[in-house]
Amino acid sequence: MSILPDFSLKHPSTIEQAVAAIRTDPAGRFIAGGTDLIANMRRGLVDARTLIDLTGIMELRELDADAKGLRIGSAVTLREMTGNADLRVRYGAIAQACEAIAGPGHRAAATVGGNLCLDTRCLYYNQSEWWRKSNNYCLKYKGKICHVAPQGNRCRAAFSGDLAPALMVHDAEVDVAGPEGRRRFALRALYREDGADHLTLAPGEFVVAIHIPPGNPSALLSAYAKIRIRGAIDFPLAGVAVACETAVCRSRWR
Ligand SMILES: Cc1cc2nc3c(=O)[nH]c(=O)nc-3n(C[C@H](O)[C@H](O)[C@H](O)COP(=O)(O)OP(=O)(O)OC[C@H]3O[C@@H](n4cnc5c(N)ncnc54)[C@H](O)[C@@H]3O)c2cc1C
Ligand code: SF4
Repeated sequence: MSILPDFSLKHPSTIEQAVAAIRTDPAGRFIAGGTDLIANMRRGLVDARTLIDLTGIMELRELDADAKGLRIGSAVTLREMTGNADLRVRYGAIAQACEAIAGPGHRAAATVGGNLCLDTRCLYYNQSEWWRKSNNYCLKYKGKICHVAPQGNRCRAAFSGDLAPALMVHDAEVDVAGPEGRRRFALRALYREDGADHLTLAPGEFVVAIHIPPGNPSALLSAYAKIRIRGAIDFPLAGVAVACETAVCRSRWR
């Protein structure tokens, strides 16, 4: 891996300051735990001179469960998620997905927002700069061809985040902020079928929180499983989340 390029780091302590920071430098990137972004910067996949650290914004660090449902701030770490007793009991798939991500050291820093906004992955993309250059790069970054499907004109790099499907079976919504204000929409609408541009966030937008509605009958009956090459610290080849909502399913599952 190459040396990390120089960058400046901004530390907003409010959502408004983070929005102001990205307005001042639209080419900047948000960073949370850095477990994906820093590796990609070292590989030359991300060229950002300014990083905006979201982990100092207290509103993004809060994890609340009450009558309004579950609210997960985007900078809550995966370790905080797995350590939350209420989450483990009532939202099984979410707790299991968090536990299946990377290793304990990664989970101590890695966040929910970073996992949801993880870059897509491909054998021809997650390589060093010299490796990709010697292959004339590819459609996703700097190149004109897809090495996976050379006849095609669309990148098929896969999204490998474990958490999104687990949140989706609990009807999660995502709250985002950016230069055009705040908006909230179904988590499934955060993604589109394009490996080179898979997030529907507008320029400068970032994830503030995830909301899960209250009284979800599937709460006790959801689960997440993944298939991966190594038994631990590995991205999913496939990840499946399920939630069972009816009384019949409930009795069969137990
Ligand atoms: C060895 C190893 C194994 C791994 N295994 C897995 C695995 O099994 N499953 C898995 O899902 N992931 C895995 N990962 C990837 C990564 O560690 C996790 O997905 C982690 O949750 C990313 O969170 P982060 O806070 O570190 O993100 P960062 O690296 O800080 O950010 C990731 C991306 O999200 C953007 N971003 C961060 N926060 C926000 C926000 N609030 N709003 C908008 N954009 C944001 C950043 O700009 C960046 O593009 C692995 C990583 C490593 C190094
Ligand atoms: S364009 Fe996408 S799918 Fe094709 S080689 Fe590049 S990263 Fe892989």
